[in-house]
Amino acid sequence: MTLSETADTQSLEPVLVAVGLTKFYQDVRVLDGIDLAVLRSSFVVLLGPSGSGKTTLLRCIAGTERLSSGTLHIAGREVAGPGVHLPPDRRHLSMVFQDYALWPHMSVAENVGFALRRLAVRGSERRTRALQMLERVGMSHLADQYPGRLSGGQQQRVALARALVGESPLLLCDEPLSNLDAHLREQLRVEIATLTRDSGATVIYITHDQQEAFSLADQLAVIHQGRILQIGPPEQVYRLPANPFVAQFTGLAGSMDAHVVGRTGPERVRVRCGEVELEATAMGDPRPGEAAQVLLRADALSLGPSGFGALCGVVRDSSFRSGAYDHVVDMAQGFRLTGVRSNTRAARGSNVVVLIDPVGCLAFPYRDGVERLDAVSPDQPRLPEGVPAWPTERADLMGSPG
Ligand code: ADP
Ligand code: MG
Repeated sequence: MTLSETADTQSLEPVLVAVGLTKFYQDVRVLDGIDLAVLRSSFVVLLGPSGSGKTTLLRCIAGTERLSSGTLHIAGREVAGPGVHLPPDRRHLSMVFQDYALWPHMSVAENVGFALRRLAVRGSERRTRALQMLERVGMSHLADQYPGRLSGGQQQRVALARALVGESPLLLCDEPLSNLDAHLREQLRVEIATLTRDSGATVIYITHDQQEAFSLADQLAVIHQGRILQIGPPEQVYRLPANPFVAQFTGLAGSMDAHVVGRTGPERVRVRCGEVELEATAMGDPRPGEAAQVLLRADALSLGPSGFGALCGVVRDSSFRSGAYDHVVDMAQGFRLTGVRSNTRAARGSNVVVLIDPVGCLAFPYRDGVERLDAVSPDQPRLPEGVPAWPTERADLMGSPG
């Protein structure tokens, strides 16, 4: 039975179940009680700023790092927990890294075939299956080249083939597109999306890139300071972010301080900002008279004639992008909006009216010690650039070809 056939019968069974995963480095808590269930054949993206604990979580799943507490089951087996720590090579995972991590002294076909040697597939069969997989990533014509001769995009295709060929129950990806330039990144993103779906693979994919996360995910989890703040289908995370940080990290055009005037529907609230009243989506339960932080998605904004829910401002900048114009507008109420789209260009310095669709206008009450958004910094301390976070341990995961 192939992995995709298995998927039909077992798609509701979680491949990975993590409960309360916690990791300390010295006395710093880097993972803070992560709960996660990953269903078979689903593509889960963990999106978070640099330093939020994404790589540490992946290392704990892979087994190259020990948990401080919590339990982890993969394919129904406890692989980590109190008194339990299965080594990486016994977890049957495959992995794609940011820096490709191909064996330099092996040809492309040998790199891919090596993943099968560990599964005790015999020599000729190994080459056949490696070539078939290379064909699927468009690399079979370079099967006998060495990785040093390949571009970054080609190397990452080979790494992807190596990760998929063994049909392991779980594929872990640590920012695999980060080292590629824009057009290749987009191309390879589509290939990762289609290849993993076609093969029925179950994927946990981490990235700090919002667009990448939204376009790949079946389930999107936003991680911050070692905690999953929200997990759900990408549409849900975008439309109903759990808190201001999630909203900010999934893309905002701007934010303003306002007061709640009153509820206008089960999900709607009227807010006042300066002289203007507008309709917003009620996040949490904003009550009349309360101060609220109103967060604006770019796709809720348009330039237009004055009307209800319209705010005035002055255009600071306009730029042509993807067939229309993006405007930066300084509003009369003292906040700035970016990415205000229009089919026509409004000149710098001109007075404009910005229309706001309540669907993408999110009113969060300031309450219960909720931090103001500008006090929440998405930038966390990070490891130095260019230092692969866990080079020596990769051999544990992928085997050492000597
Ligand atoms: P991300 O992948 O989201 O950028 P990491 O998981 O690499 O984040 O790191 C999370 C935090 O843990 C960071 O503050 C980082 O400096 C710290 N950290 C990561 N690895 C180690 C380590 N081996 N020893 C001490 N601190 C570490
Ligand atoms: Mg990382």
